Amino acid sequence: MIILIIGPQGSGKTTQAKLLAERLQLDFVSMGEALRKLYIQKDPIGLEAEKYWSKGELVPDSVIRRVMERSLVTREMKKGAVIDGFPRNIAQYEWMKDVFDRPIAAVVNLLLDEETIHQRLDKRRQIEHRGDETPRAIATRLKHYQEDTFPLIEKFQKDAVPVITIDGRGSIEDIQAEILARLEELAAP
Ligand code: AMP
Repeated sequence: MIILIIGPQGSGKTTQAKLLAERLQLDFVSMGEALRKLYIQKDPIGLEAEKYWSKGELVPDSVIRRVMERSLVTREMKKGAVIDGFPRNIAQYEWMKDVFDRPIAAVVNLLLDEETIHQRLDKRRQIEHRGDETPRAIATRLKHYQEDTFPLIEKFQKDAVPVITIDGRGSIEDIQAEILARLEELAAP
């Protein structure tokens, strides 16, 4: 089973994806985490990707495809996975449809308003010091979310992929419970 989690930065998508993967006993795949790990390991892909993510830009599709090929097609895809941060644009989704032999069971679309996004990221910045969370990089990431990632929702709907839209302002537990309930509704005959 493949479940995708889409949402702007600060919407809690990585937290929710991890919890969901544990709960459903699926692998958890995060493109952002994979890229940061490759960078720390000084892998050429990670070093190339950092030039983009440090500015809040999307990493080029060719680089993303290589990371996907390495991790998904080999390990995680065997049982299925909850995927956080991929696809992030229509071209990545089209590639995914060609390469993955499994249908997407559902897309969890976490919504959050800009004011709350900024409040949450300000807090996170004080704790995590992520290089891509400077005010400028945040603005660029939001722009990419709105222009490149959000239009995917309409595309999923056209392809009859179930999209579960959830208000990202609640507590971690409440949001997770709502995701699980909505997934169960989908699975019900
Ligand atoms: P995240 O941890 O999901 O917020 O991702 C951090 C950064 O990694 C993003 O702002 C992008 O620069 C890059 N990134 C992660 N996933 C993708 C993707 N699917 N396509 C392009 N860039 C990505």
